[in-house]
Amino acid sequence: MATAVFKTYAPNQLQLLPPSWEEKIDKAHPVRVVDKVIEQLDLTKLYDSYEGGGASAYHPKMLLKAILYAYICNIYSSRKIEEAIKSNIHLIWLCGNLEPDHHTINRFRSHKAAPVLKDIFKQIVLLLAQEGLVSLKEAYVDGTKIEANANRYTFVWGNAIKTNKEKMAKQLDQLWQYAQQVATEELQDTAVVDFTTIDAQKVTETVNTIEEAIKDKAVPKKVRQKLHYVKKNFPDKLQEYEHKEAILDGRNSYSKTDEDATFMRMKEDHMNNGQLKPGYNVQISTNNQIITNYDLFFNPTDTLTLPAHLDSFKQLYDQLPGSVTTDSGYGSEQNYEYLEANDITAYVKYNTFQQEQQGIREKKYPFAAGHLHYNQQQDYYICPMGQHMLNMGTYIRKNESGFEQTITSYGAGNCVGCPLRGVCHKGKGNRVIAVNHNLNRHKQKARELLTSEQGLAQRKQRARDVEAVFGNIKHNKGFRRFLLRGKQQVSTEFGWVAIAHNLSKKAA
Ligand code: SF4
Repeated sequence: MATAVFKTYAPNQLQLLPPSWEEKIDKAHPVRVVDKVIEQLDLTKLYDSYEGGGASAYHPKMLLKAILYAYICNIYSSRKIEEAIKSNIHLIWLCGNLEPDHHTINRFRSHKAAPVLKDIFKQIVLLLAQEGLVSLKEAYVDGTKIEANANRYTFVWGNAIKTNKEKMAKQLDQLWQYAQQVATEELQDTAVVDFTTIDAQKVTETVNTIEEAIKDKAVPKKVRQKLHYVKKNFPDKLQEYEHKEAILDGRNSYSKTDEDATFMRMKEDHMNNGQLKPGYNVQISTNNQIITNYDLFFNPTDTLTLPAHLDSFKQLYDQLPGSVTTDSGYGSEQNYEYLEANDITAYVKYNTFQQEQQGIREKKYPFAAGHLHYNQQQDYYICPMGQHMLNMGTYIRKNESGFEQTITSYGAGNCVGCPLRGVCHKGKGNRVIAVNHNLNRHKQKARELLTSEQGLAQRKQRARDVEAVFGNIKHNKGFRRFLLRGKQQVSTEFGWVAIAHNLSKKAA
């Protein structure tokens, strides 16, 4: 039997010449793409953020490359990046054998680079556009909720505050009513107090007035105790609520561990219990699976985010996309108006589009207002029994963002004894329908666009484009929860993810 021959193995042997990292990095490796792209950027703004003097700092270009390459490799924690910089040959090459620690990485990632990150993102997108990898003319827009780095049990609910304040106001009102009964004379010159809204000052003043009025009266002990309790606790509690309401800023919830995070229903519900979790609504525009814009919102619904997201697109590139394709979460009158006013072709579904196309709505709701014939010239609808439903007037309705919709009511003359009465409508009296003509016009326009040849292609591409990007970030890259806290920081964190995603697309 022949003797086995092994290659020389002497890991501790000193080498005459140090190994060249450059030779070890494959010419087509993604790390070279990161290096090449960052070398082409104008990083003057980043350099300018460094103050002169003191000890020398790690080169910002090196840190930028290292963090982005680490993100491409799904390494997000600063300690793990530090570790990888010491052991990963590609990062050793990228960092020129320098070894910044996790504090340096963190400071750079969250503070130094944060103010200029969107500019870096933009420069990279424009480079990719020059190379023909992405177009700014078409945007596929979608949103996803990503969990915040916040405890899901430290919630503050706006509704709970509202209810508690109402209870407090009611108790105060009861005390006031009681005092007016037992001390009518003493309180006769006092101005009428309105308890619709209460604050700390109103509580203190009211209790003082009541106490003064009933001081010589024989009132039950528990009334005086109640007054004492209200005086001692309500003002502080109301000040606390005021502070919380300022943080809520119109939202219905926030987490005490990340006050910018709002409780939302996440798609990824591992416990399958429908529990709301603190998170952010991330909105992105993509083209050819490259992210062209990103924004973070407190608002869990996509409908209200589109104009702000497109405004930030314009701010970034000084132009708006020529067309926007979205799912039905964005099909509101407000969004259609914005898109029309800005000459953007809207491949934007409305909420009933799919059901309409499949004929489900017509079968399910044959008598719905949308299925009644409208005589535009003479402005009336025809009800299922052939009766004319006449214009009863218009009114303005505001949606939750304050957008005003013009609604027109049309009413049937007489529904008494109609054989279709039970299935046509459930209300008492004659049937009245509320119609938003402007929204109907937009829907018609959207229907024509979405069912055109180009529209079908846009709809197919949307699933392959923006949805695939979220799928990649969440499932392949494993980025499902933010590490940082606060909207500004979280936005920066997503910026890093977005740039890394775009670089990996270029490298693919
Ligand atoms: S119930 Fe009234 S609106 Fe409906 S079909 Fe009969 S007459 Fe027309």
